[in-house]
Amino acid sequence: MTDLTSLSAAELAGLVARGESSAAEVTQAHLDRITAVDDRVHAFLHVDTEGALDAARAVDARRAAGEPLGPLAGVPVAVKDVLTTKGIPTTAGSRILAGWRPPYDSTIVRRLRAAGTVMLGKTNMDEFAMGSSTEYSAFGPTHNPWDLSRIPGGSGGGSAAALAAYETPLSIGSDTGGSIRQPGAVTGTVGVKPTYGGTSRFGLVAFSSSLDTPGPCARTVLDAALLHEAIGGHDPSDSTSIPAPVPDVVAAARLGASGDLAGVRLGVVREFAGEGAEPGVLAAFRAAVDTLTKLGAEVVEVSCPHFQYALPAYYLIAPSECSSNLARFDGVRFGLRVGDDGNRSLEEVMSATREAGFGPEVKRRVVLGTYALSSGYYDAYYGQAQKVRTLITRDFTTAFEQVDALVSPTTPFVAFPVGARTADPYQMYLADLFTIPSNLYGGPGISVPCGLADGLPVGLQVMAPTMADDRMYRVAAALESAVGPFTPPAL
Ligand code: GLN
Repeated sequence: MTDLTSLSAAELAGLVARGESSAAEVTQAHLDRITAVDDRVHAFLHVDTEGALDAARAVDARRAAGEPLGPLAGVPVAVKDVLTTKGIPTTAGSRILAGWRPPYDSTIVRRLRAAGTVMLGKTNMDEFAMGSSTEYSAFGPTHNPWDLSRIPGGSGGGSAAALAAYETPLSIGSDTGGSIRQPGAVTGTVGVKPTYGGTSRFGLVAFSSSLDTPGPCARTVLDAALLHEAIGGHDPSDSTSIPAPVPDVVAAARLGASGDLAGVRLGVVREFAGEGAEPGVLAAFRAAVDTLTKLGAEVVEVSCPHFQYALPAYYLIAPSECSSNLARFDGVRFGLRVGDDGNRSLEEVMSATREAGFGPEVKRRVVLGTYALSSGYYDAYYGQAQKVRTLITRDFTTAFEQVDALVSPTTPFVAFPVGARTADPYQMYLADLFTIPSNLYGGPGISVPCGLADGLPVGLQVMAPTMADDRMYRVAAALESAVGPFTPPAL
């Protein structure tokens, strides 16, 4: 019998729908895999064994009763621990939320359940999604299945590593500056940041509200599209949710899989195709661009002159918004409370709770953001960064008058060794050099495996106009059909 954990979500859903495997068998196979490898990978913070088996048996019962099943029914999914799950621990990778069991499901999780997917558990992440390596998790790092001495990217390293380790065929991440696409790139998996507002933030622990975007992670482009379709679309509970249907990403992925890109115009971002990336990454990227040309795409160079300011603008906007969002962790409302012995004031308890509950990177961002927003500095920092954001958006708008989508490497470097960049925050921030512009603009981006450098995966990023998510799926699926597969060494 084929190992169920090696199959794609689309294949697993087919087996379940045809009755060739039960959802319970599929789920048990993935739970067994987690037991076998997760002590080395540490992708999961919490595994909901009983909940998963119950959900799987419910799908099997519906099938037995002849009820219609959705396209992902019975397929396991792992969820980044930044999305609330009713009654199931949700930490956002932080000690300050240790022990908190939310009283409600996030919209994404509610839709996953409605689609008949089986939630295996919650995945590891950098604290409050601040980081690029998962080393800033309060619960210890996740390891990259390609090389356990290396990082799996971040902040959603758990969701990406769980895919590469075959612990789950699908997972959910959140992308504020690259936290879905960058882990996808360095683990050889597919990661999608949908259009901002195309997926609901209701129940997403907020980091930077004008940037945060939940999205799908998978091992194939089609699987990511199926998951995107299941979780996307308007949500009245999120005031920034776009009241429009999800672009037809599944049809686009299927169209792209034919390997024909005739009539598609792609722009290589000049500022991201030269120096700034490792030579191995650039070589893999250039080879992938040649492949896209052979598939029929017309490829031109496009200049986006303000992209070079995206990183500094992001590191003012995101910390500013986080300093406001994290004010809710006051030692009163959620999780941890320190020093409440009856003799201390509210301020003292709040301060002791934050001192013990927040890690160094979170504290750095709160301090930075509070400073940037303070009166007297607001115009010079936050206001200026917002103007840069407008210029970056204009770069995108101008570029999309010339081409259908933009391409670049997803990340400047392949997975680095654990510990290599923790001493210098700026070195860590550079991981998102190429992914941040889409977040500032609000458009969608996908990372798809495009090659190897020194035996480690390299991702190609496709960026599309807002609400044209389908375009990037077509391009990514075409590339996928022509290169690879890229499979990590056995664990
Ligand atoms: N690595 C970036 C940061 O540290 C992006 C994080 C994210 O997308 N959540 O802020």
